[in-house]
Amino acid sequence: MDKKEILERCRAEDVHFLRLVFTDIDGIIKNVEVPESQFEKALNGEIMFDGSSIEGFTRIEESDMLLKPDLDTFCIYPWQSPHGKVARLMCDIYNPDETPFAGCPRQALKRVAAKAAERGYRMMAGVEAEFFLFHRDPDGRPNHQTHDVGAYFDLTPMDLGEEARRDMVTVLEQMGFEIEAAHHEVAPGQHEIDFRYAEALKTADNVVDFKFVVKKVAKDHGLHATFMPKPLFGVNGSGMHTHQSLFDFAGNNVFYDPKAPYQLSAVARGYIAGILDHVRAFCAVTNPLVNSYKRLVPGYEAPVNVAWSEKNRSPLVRVPARRGLGTRCEVRVPDPSCNPYLALAVMLAAGLDGVERGLDCGEPVNRNIFEMSEREKRRLKIKQLPANLAEALDNLERDRVIREALGEHIFENFLRNKREEWKQYISVVHQWERDQYLEQF
Ligand code: GLU
Ligand code: MG
Ligand code: MG
Repeated sequence: MDKKEILERCRAEDVHFLRLVFTDIDGIIKNVEVPESQFEKALNGEIMFDGSSIEGFTRIEESDMLLKPDLDTFCIYPWQSPHGKVARLMCDIYNPDETPFAGCPRQALKRVAAKAAERGYRMMAGVEAEFFLFHRDPDGRPNHQTHDVGAYFDLTPMDLGEEARRDMVTVLEQMGFEIEAAHHEVAPGQHEIDFRYAEALKTADNVVDFKFVVKKVAKDHGLHATFMPKPLFGVNGSGMHTHQSLFDFAGNNVFYDPKAPYQLSAVARGYIAGILDHVRAFCAVTNPLVNSYKRLVPGYEAPVNVAWSEKNRSPLVRVPARRGLGTRCEVRVPDPSCNPYLALAVMLAAGLDGVERGLDCGEPVNRNIFEMSEREKRRLKIKQLPANLAEALDNLERDRVIREALGEHIFENFLRNKREEWKQYISVVHQWERDQYLEQF
């Protein structure tokens, strides 16, 4: 789409506000909204915002940043209000001198994708973002009572969660998503909506829209949607399994080789090997919260070990049975609290590194790793994912490939913020400690 077409569509469809959308390093969705009088200026990439007000973005002296919209992402939100409709554009962040801003997550992904393109590859990615729906207290604050158990359940003739989910699907479809499945997940109050894979940048943009729509529709239903990885102890957490493959520019899936073992090409094997090699570092980005590591424990369908498999669901990387264009690996570690641009950037960089170094992923582990002894795991050289955020950050700090994928600015800021988050967490006295120690000691 070009500027003229967008302006025409805004006029034809009664669009009175334009939202310029971007994310900060933590993946928090931000936007600057402009009225009709500023549409031209916005489309020209001349709208400025104060970057210093956004966590981890920039130093005070370089605070005015430019928002450059990607015109191909133009989309009108399906909601009508008395003030007309609102459209949105995904944006890249630029410095006031028109150079790309090094702290822009979207451009970090573009940089790694450009590196892949130099080698003839395009990353395709599809995600399964799970979430929970909770009730809100009368004052509007979310509690952790799910919509399908607990006191409210008896009072509601219909399942509130299912209703909300149906609305989410409708809105997403109106925004151009191709929804492939929507279902209740294993835990009470937990849901999943799957949409069609696309090229990495598009998928990351989609995740941003997806999270916004899920949260908004939940709120309209009086519920609270959360992408927190492990909101409840004792039941499954929420993952964001990411299916990924490399295509060439002629549209072939280069992971597919009908003559190779498992019909997986050397590129696919190298990519998987790269993921396995770097995951203990990049999970700091794909699983960025203290809480993320409470999901990665045995017994809840989330990975704990570094291995690949064709069958069993416990390993980190699964290769689904589909071949041909659908040949792909499913990386099961990410959770939906990650910044999708950075998550895809670090996974692509890890995979590419494996391809470049000619690594091989070896034989799949098709047995249930949870049932293996420690000795057996050592014999098969199966490592564990980091036990907590601090361990992941230590690994991240040492991983040159992942550091380069993020770029120095994002790497430094991310590490500093996350170290601070960890420091805060370990200094707080948690309820578990009082339950455990107060009486005994
Ligand atoms: N909720 C599980 C996780 O934490 C995944 C369940 C599934 O296989 O969809 O990754
Ligand atoms: Mg699922
Ligand atoms: Mg899955």
